[in-house]
Amino acid sequence: MFASEAFDQDHIEEEPDWDRARCRDRSGAATALFFSDEIPDILRAKAICRECALLDACLSGAIDRREPAGVWGGELFADGRILTHKRKRGRPPKNRSAEGVALTA
Ligand code: SF4
Repeated sequence: MFASEAFDQDHIEEEPDWDRARCRDRSGAATALFFSDEIPDILRAKAICRECALLDACLSGAIDRREPAGVWGGELFADGRILTHKRKRGRPPKNRSAEGVALTA
């Protein structure tokens, strides 16, 4: 083994074991929660993420991919951006500050 190979092997990041993801229930039941428009479902999905060992890797990947929708890594995404909160269904509020605010570019 050459010195450069040893260096490369030391710096290979391990791929997360996605089988350990808390949202992976193999039945697909969790998918509805993670891609729901309902605020209680979104909050439940975020709570599941908070206990997930893969949260950091999941969130980082979702940001990199600019996920168009869903809860990833404990955050709600829309059009590739993280929303700080989701507005309730129905008529928009008169105060625009109550609408979702994007955190990422
Ligand atoms: S952090 Fe990612 S992998 Fe873990 S439960 Fe949430 S969406 Fe699933």
